[in-house]
Amino acid sequence: MKTIKCPQCGGPSLWDESNKARPFCCDRCKLIDLGAWASESYQIPVQPSDEAYEDYSSYDASSLPTNATKH
Ligand SMILES: [Zn+2]
Repeated sequence: MKTIKCPQCGGPSLWDESNKARPFCCDRCKLIDLGAWASESYQIPVQPSDEAYEDYSSYDASSLPTNATKH
């Protein structure tokens, strides 16, 4: 029966339909990995484009080129 390397603990993980946690070796590793992924998602910094938008908001709209309003 085929086994793969568990992405979480690096141990052998059974690659079979009977392993509901695959590619993880067990539910515990699966939950740990999902938890880590979720916590990382909260650490994504503000998009640079959002900061650029903040900068543009300080400009007088009438001074912007006309093609800048066609977004
Ligand atoms: Zn594991």
